[in-house]
Amino acid sequence: MDQVEAEIVCGQCGHKVKKPVSWLVDNAEYVCSMCGQGEDLSTPEWKAKIQSYIDACNDFEV
Ligand SMILES: [Zn+2]
Repeated sequence: MDQVEAEIVCGQCGHKVKKPVSWLVDNAEYVCSMCGQGEDLSTPEWKAKIQSYIDACNDFEV
Protein backbone atom coordinates (compact mmCIF):
# COMPACT_ATOMS: atom_id res chain seq x y z
CA MET A 1 0.00 0.00 0.00
CA ASP A 2 3.02 2.26 -0.23
CA GLN A 3 2.12 3.05 -3.83
CA VAL A 4 -1.30 4.42 -2.97
CA GLU A 5 -1.28 8.08 -1.99
CA ALA A 6 -3.91 10.06 -0.17
CA GLU A 7 -4.32 13.78 -0.69
CA ILE A 8 -4.31 15.97 2.38
CA VAL A 9 -5.64 19.51 2.03
CA CYS A 10 -4.58 21.99 4.69
CA GLY A 11 -7.65 23.45 6.41
CA GLN A 12 -5.89 26.76 6.93
CA CYS A 13 -4.05 27.64 3.72
CA GLY A 14 -5.42 25.07 1.26
CA HIS A 15 -1.97 23.65 0.49
CA LYS A 16 -2.28 20.15 -0.92
CA VAL A 17 0.16 17.34 -0.29
CA LYS A 18 0.15 13.68 -1.15
CA LYS A 19 1.24 11.12 1.40
CA PRO A 20 1.43 7.33 1.09
CA VAL A 21 -1.40 5.59 2.93
CA SER A 22 1.17 3.73 5.01
CA TRP A 23 2.43 7.12 6.24
CA LEU A 24 -1.07 8.10 7.35
CA VAL A 25 -1.40 4.86 9.29
CA ASP A 26 1.86 5.52 11.14
CA ASN A 27 1.29 9.19 11.89
CA ALA A 28 -1.41 10.77 14.05
CA GLU A 29 -0.81 14.29 12.80
CA TYR A 30 0.21 16.03 9.61
CA VAL A 31 1.85 19.44 9.91
CA CYS A 32 1.45 21.68 6.87
CA SER A 33 4.80 22.54 5.31
CA MET A 34 3.45 25.88 4.10
CA CYS A 35 1.82 27.40 7.19
CA GLY A 36 2.63 24.98 10.02
CA GLN A 37 -1.01 24.20 10.74
CA GLY A 38 -1.46 20.78 12.31
CA GLU A 39 -4.04 18.39 10.89
CA ASP A 40 -5.26 15.77 13.34
CA LEU A 41 -5.30 12.42 11.56
CA SER A 42 -6.73 10.53 14.54
CA THR A 43 -10.27 11.89 14.13
CA PRO A 44 -13.07 9.46 13.20
CA GLU A 45 -13.39 11.32 9.91
CA TRP A 46 -9.76 10.67 8.99
CA LYS A 47 -9.86 7.11 10.33
CA ALA A 48 -12.75 6.38 7.98
CA LYS A 49 -10.98 8.03 5.07
CA ILE A 50 -7.73 6.13 5.70
CA GLN A 51 -9.67 2.88 6.05
CA SER A 52 -11.36 3.51 2.70
CA TYR A 53 -7.93 3.89 1.09
CA ILE A 54 -6.77 0.66 2.73
CA ASP A 55 -9.90 -1.10 1.46
CA ALA A 56 -9.17 0.22 -2.02
CA CYS A 57 -5.63 -1.20 -1.79
CA ASN A 58 -7.00 -4.59 -0.82
CA ASP A 59 -9.32 -4.52 -3.80
CA PHE A 60 -6.35 -4.04 -6.11
CA GLU A 61 -4.59 -7.08 -4.67
CA VAL A 62 -7.50 -9.46 -5.19
ZN1 LIG B 1 -1.27 25.16 5.47
